[in-house]
Amino acid sequence: MAHKVALIPGDGIGPEITAAMRRVVDATGVEIEWNTVDAGAGVIEEYGTPLPQHVLDAVEDAKVAIKGPITTPVGTGFRSVNVALRKHFDLYSCVRPCLSQPGDGSRYEDVDLVIVRENTEDLYAGIEFDEGDPRVAEISRIVEESGRKTFRADSALSLKPISITGSQRIVEYAFEYARRCGRRKVTAVHKANIMKATDGMYLRIAHEVAERYPDIEFNDKIVDATCMGLVQNPADFDVMVLPNLYGDIVSDLCAGLVGGLGMAPGANIGSDIAVFEATHGSAPDIAGKNIANPTAEILSAAMMLDHLGENVAATAIRDAVRATLAEGAQVTGDVRRALTGSAEGAVGTQEYADAVIEHLAHVH
Ligand code: NAD
Repeated sequence: MAHKVALIPGDGIGPEITAAMRRVVDATGVEIEWNTVDAGAGVIEEYGTPLPQHVLDAVEDAKVAIKGPITTPVGTGFRSVNVALRKHFDLYSCVRPCLSQPGDGSRYEDVDLVIVRENTEDLYAGIEFDEGDPRVAEISRIVEESGRKTFRADSALSLKPISITGSQRIVEYAFEYARRCGRRKVTAVHKANIMKATDGMYLRIAHEVAERYPDIEFNDKIVDATCMGLVQNPADFDVMVLPNLYGDIVSDLCAGLVGGLGMAPGANIGSDIAVFEATHGSAPDIAGKNIANPTAEILSAAMMLDHLGENVAATAIRDAVRATLAEGAQVTGDVRRALTGSAEGAVGTQEYADAVIEHLAHVH
C-alpha cells in the first residue's frame, strides 16, 4: 500500500528542491501518494492566511509531511508558518543529523553529530509585546515590585518560557534517540550561569533524566563554549540537546561543519505527526535559478523514509548522495565553491538530482 505524504513545496528555492527530492524518492520505487498543498505568502490572497486549514488537514490526514522552506517577513507581517506548523502539531523535537560528506569542501572530514532542538518553547513561543504597549509598563511595574531593577520604558519584550514538561520530553527524546541509534553520549547545552530560572531548570531536569540512562554518557556545556568547541574539535560531540534558540543557531554552525546549509537535513517530530524539512531557509537570493543544492531536502526525505519503515530505500538514497558527492563531477555551485573557490563546472539543481538518481540505480 502506498504511503500517504503531504508535500508542501514552500517558496523561494522550495519548489525547485522539493521537485528534485520527489524525483529521487520516486526513483527508489517506494510507492508514495503525494498530496501537494501550498502555504506561505503566496496563498494569503486566496485564503486570508499563510497556513490555510486544508494544509493542516492534509498533514493531519497523512501524519507525515515533507516541506520546502517558507519565507517569513522580518519584523512585520505574519508570524513564521514553520513555527506555526510546529506549534499546531506540537512537533516538539527537531532532529538534525550533521554528517560529513565526501568532497563537501569543509574543514573537517569526519563530523558525525546529531542536534536535538526543542521546538515549541523559549523565545520562539511568540509571546511578545511591542514598544509602547501598555502591558510593557505593567510588566515593568511587576518587575519593580519584585525588588529587581526594571528595564527602560521604551523597551519591547520577548518572553522566554521554558517548562519542566517541555524540558523533560526533549531530553528524554535525545536519550531515546541515542539509545535507538547506538550513540554514545548526550550533551545538554545551556546558559544556566546567566539564566538561572529558565536554563538552570532545564539543566537540572537534564541531569535528572540522564540518571535514568546509565548506558549513555552525559555531560553539559555552556552554549558559547559549545560553539568554540564545535569549531575546534567537533569529534568531542555526539548527540546534543538544546533549547529552541540555541538549537537554531548551533544547527547552522554545525551545517557549516559539513559543507553548508545545502547539506543539512532535518525532521520535526511530535507524538504522532512528523514533518521533514532541510535546515536552511528559502534562500531568496538564489531562488528560481536552478542553482540551489537539494541535498539537504533529499537527505530529509531519507529520514522520512526511515520513519515510514522504508529503511532500504532510505539507505539507498544516502549511498547515492554520497557516491555523487564523492565523484564530484556533478555537484551544485555551493559545493564546488567550497572545494575550489569557484562555482565553475557546477551543475544545476535538477541535473544534480539526475546524477543522484543515476547512482541510485547502481547502489540499489
Ligand atoms: P537561508 O537559509 O535561506 O539562506 C542563507 C544563505 O545560505 C543564503 O546565501 C542562501 O543562498 C544559502 N543557501 C541556503 N540554502 C541553500 C541551498 N539549498 N543551496 C545553496 N545555498 C543555500 O537563510 P535566510 O536568508 O536567513 O532566510 C531566508 C528566508 O527563509 C527567511 O524568510 C527565513 O525566515 C526563512 N526560513 C525558513 C525556514 C523554514 O522554512 N524552515 C528556515 C530558516 C529560514
